[in-house]
Amino acid sequence: MKTLLKNAFVVTVNETFACYPDGAVLVDGPRISYVGPAAQAPHHADIVVRDMRGAVIMPGMVNTHTHGGLCLHRGACDEGDLFEWAAALAPTTSNIPPQGLKDGCTLAILEMVRGGITTACDCARHGTALFSEVASKIGMRSLSGAMANSPALRKAGVPNWPAMIGETEEAMAARDGDGLSSFYLGAHSPYNCTPDLLVDVKRAANERGLPFVIHAAENFKETEMVLERYGRRPIQHLAHLDILDSSTVLAHCVQVDDADMESIASSGATVAHNPVSNGKLASGIAPVTEMRRRCIPVGLGTDSNISNNALNLFQEMKVAVLLQRLAAQNGYAMSARDAIVMATREGAAALGMGDVTGSLEAGKRADLVALDLYHPLGLTEERVISDIVFAAGPQHVRMVMIDGRTVFEDGRFTRVDEAAIREEWNMRYGAQSAGSTI
Ligand SMILES: [Zn+2]
Repeated sequence: MKTLLKNAFVVTVNETFACYPDGAVLVDGPRISYVGPAAQAPHHADIVVRDMRGAVIMPGMVNTHTHGGLCLHRGACDEGDLFEWAAALAPTTSNIPPQGLKDGCTLAILEMVRGGITTACDCARHGTALFSEVASKIGMRSLSGAMANSPALRKAGVPNWPAMIGETEEAMAARDGDGLSSFYLGAHSPYNCTPDLLVDVKRAANERGLPFVIHAAENFKETEMVLERYGRRPIQHLAHLDILDSSTVLAHCVQVDDADMESIASSGATVAHNPVSNGKLASGIAPVTEMRRRCIPVGLGTDSNISNNALNLFQEMKVAVLLQRLAAQNGYAMSARDAIVMATREGAAALGMGDVTGSLEAGKRADLVALDLYHPLGLTEERVISDIVFAAGPQHVRMVMIDGRTVFEDGRFTRVDEAAIREEWNMRYGAQSAGSTI
């Protein structure tokens, strides 16, 4: 089926950041086949025309780092730095039963989709299949996997290596051909994994042609710990083990120096920047402007809703800009356009999905968001870009299309019954309130 979305302000986020005030997007099955001025859009009898009533259409956003399985425990710990916080949470997060992990994934995906996120990179410990299973059902694109831990270094919970290889392969077989799910193999961090484990997981990922995801250089205590154990800073430790290459995604990269950034840039590795989580856990401000100047692809991530506590990329865009300006005391350090690019096209590239999603261009999958923005002086390119980063939020999301399918519209999910899901949770966990936080 071909659908022409018209009467819309289209923000393509292509290489030239083209915007079309009277724009149109032609969706042909799962793909985009035309983006441009409405006046030049193809018109045929078999094309269904959909009047977007002046909505702003932008690419679906890409959450480059999250942990859906933990989301049932939002608000479980809101203080302490990374290590203090993780220690306080370990009794809770290390032993979540499969149903709790699945419910966490569902909660996360509902929140992300209604907030205009169409792709997410999820990091599990056990239950690799859960996130993609739920995402696929709701209609969201995912890159899922588990992060291996070394039991000698991270004592809480059941070891997940090498069991997660089988889990991942099963998930890949189950979701094969759904058009939405892809997978990686990951390791938790340089401090929670032995060098041997890091090498083993990276090798297993390479053998299967899968990306590799790891937390790296998140906190200054990590730097001290890794330096003391291995004589190198975290990024240099990973470089030394031959872990850095163009299929490696590094979550955080807050504590990186010039040599670290040089190693990342020359390797082709990419970065998932989590500004709100980094702030909440007092990790520091990642040198994003400097990393991007070196052509390191940097996407935006929410991290889990225990370290955030919202899965809201509008918020991440705004905070990312504010932090770079504050750190540099320079009001030009990062622009709203930069933030939108990171939340969409660059985020997709960081996950190795740059050919699939992240911008509105003919040939890419139709992952897009329609926003109801209103400006008393009218929508211009500058106002729309400014509003998306500095003023908008999930409350402005009217419609979300992923892979050519409308999965959320006017407050309702089209493929799942959200009220029934909540009723099930109320029965299972005893919640009584009728309000909505997500
Ligand atoms: Zn994480």
